[in-house]
Amino acid sequence: MQVTGSTVRYILDAMAAVEPSKVSPILERAGLKHLAGVTATATPVASNGDLARVYATAYELMGETMTRLFLSRYGETVCETFLASPDGKALLAEAAAQPPQLRVAVAIKGMADRMSKSVYQTRFSEDEVACYVDVADCLTCDGVRHARAPYCASLETLFTALGRQVSGKRITCLETTCRAMGGATCRYRIWKT
Ligand SMILES: [Zn+2]
Repeated sequence: MQVTGSTVRYILDAMAAVEPSKVSPILERAGLKHLAGVTATATPVASNGDLARVYATAYELMGETMTRLFLSRYGETVCETFLASPDGKALLAEAAAQPPQLRVAVAIKGMADRMSKSVYQTRFSEDEVACYVDVADCLTCDGVRHARAPYCASLETLFTALGRQVSGKRITCLETTCRAMGGATCRYRIWKT
């Protein structure tokens, strides 16, 4: 799958916001120096494998804590950008048309379905109190093992922000298992209220 200039730009900007001096060394070590000046367009500029290499090298050079911080920052950007897009607005409207107690699940399922079409294979499930998204092919932690804590903060932040947006409440999302810690999938639990 191909990665657009926009995605690469958002990732590099989020990285620069956390560790400005590390962006060049990370790209250099990953063999992707040519991505440094990429502009935010819909043109494909990299592969999923390139992206996985950027994440793995970030972990190597920034360490677990700073990488998690950068990923969280990136998740915020993704959420803001998505919600400002026509597709994001459509999902917000779809959730707003539901009774309040169903809105979080509708929004998270909508997001998981969209992710399955573009980035990851996701599986959505739910019970009375929470919904769950499993990602079996997460790129973020592809090159990372033995993390001390669940690691993929970008989706944690994204689901949290989305849940808050549609419910108007302080929705919590936690990554409960992570491939970086030996889990079979990266699993996110999003409380409905
Ligand atoms: Zn992951």
